[in-house]
Amino acid sequence: KNLRKPFVAGNWKMNGNLALVAEFNQKLANVKADSEIVICAPSLLLHAFETHSFAIGAQNVSHLNNGAHTGELSVEMLKEAGCGYAIVGHSERREDQGESSELVALKAKQCVSSGVVPIICVGEPLEVREADDVESFVGEQLDALVSAMSVDELSKTVIAYEPIWAIGTGKTASPEQAQEVHEFIRGYFNKVDAQLAQGLRILYGGSVKPDNAETLFAQKDVDGGLIGGASLKAEDFISICQAAN
Ligand code: PEP
Repeated sequence: KNLRKPFVAGNWKMNGNLALVAEFNQKLANVKADSEIVICAPSLLLHAFETHSFAIGAQNVSHLNNGAHTGELSVEMLKEAGCGYAIVGHSERREDQGESSELVALKAKQCVSSGVVPIICVGEPLEVREADDVESFVGEQLDALVSAMSVDELSKTVIAYEPIWAIGTGKTASPEQAQEVHEFIRGYFNKVDAQLAQGLRILYGGSVKPDNAETLFAQKDVDGGLIGGASLKAEDFISICQAAN
């Protein structure tokens, strides 16, 4: 675990405005944290961030190069806007836009090809957990990544395990539940390549708050978090970042 630098990413979703960016610029300017900190804000706000103590990311990206694709943003555009990261395959997009695991894998591959780090989301809905089927469900999401990407490409990604029943619900996975799936995910990649598995950052996402972050991040295979609601409050986000140190 010590080999892996802790990582905390905020996902603002379709929230925020220029005033919130200004507040974050000010409040996060002097944050001391040994973790990698990223804010994934709506693309139209990215230009306003002053990124000295943290990096910025997008919440989605096209799997295609520049061209006739109305309404899409390419990885080259995101990169020019200062993005070092992009969330891909968030469960809200899998649900609302019908993104398949195969498409998510192509988006992740497209990011890596331009030097943007994809934060690839996986995770099961409640009925899958209740049916005790989490490993086969998440395993299939991972299969699509491994089919589309080489070991070298996979080593340039970050995985976020986000059980859908814990997102925005205030119902966090217990540290034990999170660790169990994180261990499964690392074990899955270990069968692909041992070095890849050792270096891969696996984040937990789902109702992470200042008061539960530390015990979640202390788990052996939890390398940080992807934070939704609590990333909209600078003080909360800062204390979550510090819990990852
Ligand atoms: C998310 O959607 O990535 C997320 C983790 O949201 P929340 O922290 O609000 O549950």
